[in-house]
Amino acid sequence: MRMILVGPPGAGKGTQAARLINTFKIPHISSGDMLRAAVIQGTPLGKEADKSMKAGQLVPDEVVIGMILERIAKPDSANGFMLDGFPRTRPQAEALDAALTKAGFALDAVVLIEVPDALLEERACGRRSDPETGTIYHLKYNPPPADVAGRLVHRKDDTVEAVSTRIAKYHSETAPIVPFYEEKGILKRVDGVGDPDTITQRLTAALAR
Ligand code: AMP
Repeated sequence: MRMILVGPPGAGKGTQAARLINTFKIPHISSGDMLRAAVIQGTPLGKEADKSMKAGQLVPDEVVIGMILERIAKPDSANGFMLDGFPRTRPQAEALDAALTKAGFALDAVVLIEVPDALLEERACGRRSDPETGTIYHLKYNPPPADVAGRLVHRKDDTVEAVSTRIAKYHSETAPIVPFYEEKGILKRVDGVGDPDTITQRLTAALAR
């Protein structure tokens, strides 16, 4: 299964990807997680990405495209992968398409998790993640247990200001990839409003169709 999860910031892509990979046994490849790791390691790529990320802006296409194409060429992706957060622009979608076609592969599904803008800010700003397990919590909707609360991380770009820039970027840069995949007949729309278990059920049903 070669698939992509698309959705605005706070749609639940990371939460759902972590659940779905248990079913599909494919690597979860999150461009945001890879970029955050590069920032922490202080690699040249991380240094280039850091400023854009903090401001909620997109990292330049050529940087992200190279990083992801290299990643999906690794042996663990030979039988499939779940991309989360990539592609985020039309040139990224076209570059992925060209690379897969060249390698003799095609995407099986692109799942769009739809959540109205009005819910996104609260979802993203209340998000906290556990650096030890990768588990994503929400202070109100999925509160962390007391024993992990002290080590949780609040992303630098989960502030009101950066989230509103990210939502605007989603509409201007990422939404145009939807018709690209719709024309290929592989786009599946899933309602992302509800509790995480219900949304996992919707995603699983959509992928089985
Ligand atoms: P995410 O964890 O997916 O919300 O991504 C966090 C931040 O990383 C984004 O706001 C961008 O600054 C950067 N980023 C992640 N994926 C991409 C991408 N495909 N293209 C450009 N920037 C990206």
